[in-house]
Amino acid sequence: MSHRRRGLSLVALAGMLGLALSTPAGAEPHDAGRDISRDISRDTLAADDGWAAADGGTTGGSTADAAHVFTVRDRSELVRALDGGSDTPKIIRIAGTIDANTADDGGKLDCDDYATGGYELRKYLTAYDPRGWGSARPSGPQEEARQASAAKQAERIELPVGSHTTIVGLKGAVIKGASLQLRGSDHVIIRNLELRDAYDCFPVWQPNTGGLGDWKTAYDNIWLRGATHVWIDHVTISDQGHPDEDEPTYFGRNHLRHDGLLDITNASDLVTVSWSRFADHDKGLLIGNGDTATGDRGKLRVTLHHNQFENVVQRAPRVRFGQVHLYNNRYVVPADAHDYRYSLGISTESAVYAENNAFTTPGHIEVADLVKSWNGTALHQTGTLFNGYPVDLLAIHNAYNSGSERDLTADVGWTPTLHQKIDSAVRADREVARGAGAGRLR
Ligand code: CA
Repeated sequence: MSHRRRGLSLVALAGMLGLALSTPAGAEPHDAGRDISRDISRDTLAADDGWAAADGGTTGGSTADAAHVFTVRDRSELVRALDGGSDTPKIIRIAGTIDANTADDGGKLDCDDYATGGYELRKYLTAYDPRGWGSARPSGPQEEARQASAAKQAERIELPVGSHTTIVGLKGAVIKGASLQLRGSDHVIIRNLELRDAYDCFPVWQPNTGGLGDWKTAYDNIWLRGATHVWIDHVTISDQGHPDEDEPTYFGRNHLRHDGLLDITNASDLVTVSWSRFADHDKGLLIGNGDTATGDRGKLRVTLHHNQFENVVQRAPRVRFGQVHLYNNRYVVPADAHDYRYSLGISTESAVYAENNAFTTPGHIEVADLVKSWNGTALHQTGTLFNGYPVDLLAIHNAYNSGSERDLTADVGWTPTLHQKIDSAVRADREVARGAGAGRLR
């Protein structure tokens, strides 16, 4: 059965059961935004709201029966409600702060609790110091112990989110330390929720990454792998609690603890990310994770609108293959951000259509820094605002790009049709500052 047919039958079923499928477009504006006066649990995506509105739209768990509406307060309750990533329509309301690094008995787990097989960071660093070990991939007892330890942490913090699932935060809801994993899931909605600090206790040393070697970390706060019809709205995702900049340097590289905030890979498709805040992090949003992943061709269609990217070092987003509509987003690079690399990453066969986005940066960041291309050929951009002034990212990229990069053309081969009202960048900048992120749904 196609997605469209199943989507329609669920709507019909909901009608038979007398369930209301409200849309945010019909909501009354509510002043505070600090609290939500209406129940958003059964909302579905509005009919024109980005790529996730295509092919029958995105309904999440809106048709859940009464037995599958949960309010969860700790990891055990959350895991039970997620039901191993089952496809049963379900609505999960998050109450308070849930820490994924928690034992079944409710006790807090730290990295030492996962360490097994004799793993110790100090011994790992001694074993694979490039000055003695060289540039071969780590192998032997400490690497084996690291892998076994990492598997124990993964078993705790990787939480599968199945098809027909809606996850909404109640007032002040936070999930700490988790990686929500949408693997082949269809129809998922995640709204009004803060996700923090998907902290990897056991980064692996990769001697051959980037010439100097680098630390590779495992967990994205949200990872879409082959997931379709996904709406992420009014979430806040950051490293709050453990900023990587506070981590030490080993082997000349920052000992990173976090991977992506939101990664969309493996032929995921039809995704809308709206009114969300991505903050205080290195690698923000990756759309497509390999130049040779040709199964992504024709997929990875994503709309990003009214999001705030604040103090994100790179990947806001970085795109391969996908048709990505990027409109009305707000970028803020703080004055002390000396590790800023770029915002828009234009990579293999990507087709980014950027409209009316606003950048606020300190003096040492120039327009030419905002876009970086690896094997990219095109970027459509209009209405870009840079510290209050209109700029042409494309012309400036092409004027200042390094000799190794090709010039980008403006023809990305498509024009977005599924979108709501596109505001001026000035207005979007103001509205996003006020309205994006968890707890600000109006
Ligand atoms: Ca990742």
